[in-house]
Amino acid sequence: GLASEGGSKLKMLLTYIHTLPDGVMFILFGIAIGLRFDLDCCVGFTLFLFLILIGNYGNDIRNADLYSILIDMSEEGVYYSLDLGGTNFRVLRVRLGGQMSMILNKKVERQPIPQELMTGTSEELFDFIALTLKQLVESESSEFEFRLDERMVLGVTFSFPVKQASASSGTLIKWTKGFDIEDMVGKDVAESLQHALINRGLNMRVAALVNDTVGTLALGHYDDEDTVAAVIIGTGTNACYVERIDAIIKCQGLLTNSGGMVVNMEWGNFWTSHLPRTSYDIDLDAESPNPNDQARMSLESDIFGDATARLSVPFALRSVLHALFVPFAKGREQNNHAYPVKGSNATSLLTYSFKGLPGTPLMVAMHEDETSDLREVGRVLKEVFQISDVPLKVRKLVVRVCDVITRRAARLAAAGIVGILKKIGRDGSGGIASGRPKSGGESTIKMKRSVVAVEGGLYSNYTMFRDYLHEAVSEILGEEIAPYVVLKESEDGSGIGAALLAASYSSVRKDHTS
Ligand code: BGC
Ligand code: MG
Repeated sequence: GLASEGGSKLKMLLTYIHTLPDGVMFILFGIAIGLRFDLDCCVGFTLFLFLILIGNYGNDIRNADLYSILIDMSEEGVYYSLDLGGTNFRVLRVRLGGQMSMILNKKVERQPIPQELMTGTSEELFDFIALTLKQLVESESSEFEFRLDERMVLGVTFSFPVKQASASSGTLIKWTKGFDIEDMVGKDVAESLQHALINRGLNMRVAALVNDTVGTLALGHYDDEDTVAAVIIGTGTNACYVERIDAIIKCQGLLTNSGGMVVNMEWGNFWTSHLPRTSYDIDLDAESPNPNDQARMSLESDIFGDATARLSVPFALRSVLHALFVPFAKGREQNNHAYPVKGSNATSLLTYSFKGLPGTPLMVAMHEDETSDLREVGRVLKEVFQISDVPLKVRKLVVRVCDVITRRAARLAAAGIVGILKKIGRDGSGGIASGRPKSGGESTIKMKRSVVAVEGGLYSNYTMFRDYLHEAVSEILGEEIAPYVVLKESEDGSGIGAALLAASYSSVRKDHTS
């Protein structure tokens, strides 16, 4: 039964924690999820979820960026930002002002990153970025009464693992999400961009370099000061949260008067052998650009628009469907792999036809098919997989597979979110004594309201995913605590937040008369 299984897993996890070598893993998400796919077209799963988080930060938290976060509410002027690292590239202009330094005006331009730039040279990529920014600046400078001779301030959201050197500089540790520009690894991102800006004649200074989670947290915090964490569930997945300075060994000895530091967790990297993986996950991971890395992400996230399409929920779907439909792919050589290996010449029908296709929309279309005969599923299977006349029984199964994968991903993300809350004592287990209840209600416990800003395509566009996520968070927290935790959808927060941070960090103040 689930209970006894849970009991034994719990013990296992605790043992594991006790025997962990120091300095190896300071945060452990102990999540036990049983998920089993049977190859004979029958999907059964057991699910049990338990979470433990050890919050003991050391000097070498993997890929952790530490920032102090200070947005004073007195910024004024026009600030720019760019957001690179998702399916779309964005350039933004934010105008701050007024008594409370309100966002008076914002303009966001999105465009997909040209495929060839993701694997070309850093010079090409940054030149493209600089050019796009220049177009934004020039397009409406009159409307903003902006003087081009004035030095502009830029916040950069760069959603990849970065070794942060300061609030406005850092070197790329490695690419994720299908980007692969070798000459950039180890280089300073802000410096490279600054060069490109100068080359394009843009009088603009990089004042902040942040991860997308950090940008999202910044805007979240700006809008609602109860925001304690930000989570991205989109092309990639990650989270950051505000940690007490004294809980961070790396910060000991630092003189600082701000109470919190933002920790970029790069949680796509968290892994434990206690997180069960199916053969599909293993194949998927082996094939990914960073095998054994970001393994958690492969269970969770979405990367449609990415040609490599490795680390994704739709990708997991593809993996399972492949096993399901190999027998249908008549005239094709069947191979023994549950998943075709990249570069091998066993180019299956599915490998071929999935290329470059949007993943999540396709999955949503099938998952949320409400027609009684699952027509939509049939249509997608035909159009995308070129398999016709799939029996209703199998179409039902496809929906179920979508459901299992989505639910598992959502529960993983939920475990991560509650893990953060637990770490900072916002999950109700620490007996918090002060705070205000959310609204009405006569609760006996005194809890602080905690807001988690959530951004990303998988969360915003996949209703079933979002529902499962909310459900799981409430389930883990329990009905007494859950009302105090608010997951707030954020849009363009990563970019707008970077502009806010740039404004805070820059000493430049601009005067505007409009
Ligand atoms: C990156 C993170 C980023 C996340 C969400 C991951 O691939 O490593 O830095 O926050 O994607 O965009
Ligand atoms: Mg993004």
